[in-house]
Formats: sequence, C-alpha cells, structure tokens
Amino acid sequence: MTAPHTGPALAAPNLGAAVSALRARGFRVSSARRLVLESLYGAGEPLSAERIAGGLEGRFPVSDLASVYRNLETLEELGLVRHFHLGHGPGLYAPAGEEKEYLLCESCHELRAVDPSELDGARTLIQEELGFRARFTHFPIVGLCPACEGSA
Ligand SMILES: [Zn+2]
Ligand SMILES: [Zn+2]
Repeated sequence: MTAPHTGPALAAPNLGAAVSALRARGFRVSSARRLVLESLYGAGEPLSAERIAGGLEGRFPVSDLASVYRNLETLEELGLVRHFHLGHGPGLYAPAGEEKEYLLCESCHELRAVDPSELDGARTLIQEELGFRARFTHFPIVGLCPACEGSA
C-alpha cells in the first residue's frame, strides 16, 4: 500500500483536461496511462486497481495490474488522482476534484461523502483533546449511519 499524496489536487474536470494537464507537465500519455484515465473518468465511481486492470467488465481492454498501479501512482503524485479505502477493501481511485471526507456505515456499508468543513468541529475537538490532526480523506470515519443506529 502506498501512502496517499497530500499535495494540492490538480483537478481536471474531464479526460481531455487530464490529458492536457499531463502533457503540459511534460508527461508522455502512453496508451496504458490513457486507459487508466479513461476508466476513472468513464466509470463515474471510485475504482480499485484490480477493476481497472480487469477492463471494467468488458468496457475497456484488460491491462497489466503492475502497470495500472504504476500509472495510478504517477497520476496521484501529480495530484490528478486520489485514493481512499473502505473498511477492509483495496484502495479506490477517483479523479481528484473537490476534497471530500467520508463516513462509512459498518452495518449497511453506506458511504457518505461530506465537505471537510462539516468535520472541522470534530477535528478541532480531537486536536484540542489529543493533539492529533485527524483527516478522513484516506480512511473514512467508520460507525453507524442514522438509519442503522435507529434500528439497533
Ligand atoms: Zn491508501
Ligand atoms: Zn447503515
């Protein structure tokens, strides 16, 4: 597992903008690298490297998993791509956009993305009590959603 890159996001609204951003920084857009970007922008949901390499159930050609990982790493270093984890699952990759933090329900597995400002109150409290600056962009807060909490 690689550490997440916490540098500034290089948000590209679509595939064309992402390819231009790569070229503008002197990166070659190989067909393998383009395929990773096409999958991420085409899927509309966060993807594991395994799913990208598998070609998204026939939508894209199958690629080499190690090469998918290398390309994801490069794209993440550039700030074009971000990843996070859901519980025990593998890293899930998505085009970098507005920064989101996540809440995951352990019971129904609902994932809720929230604006970081919504967690600033909790972050401040944790920092005051424990001196720890919490981030929920890489691993979500895990607990019970209101519906599951209500039925417990
Ligand atoms: Zn990770
Ligand atoms: Zn739930």
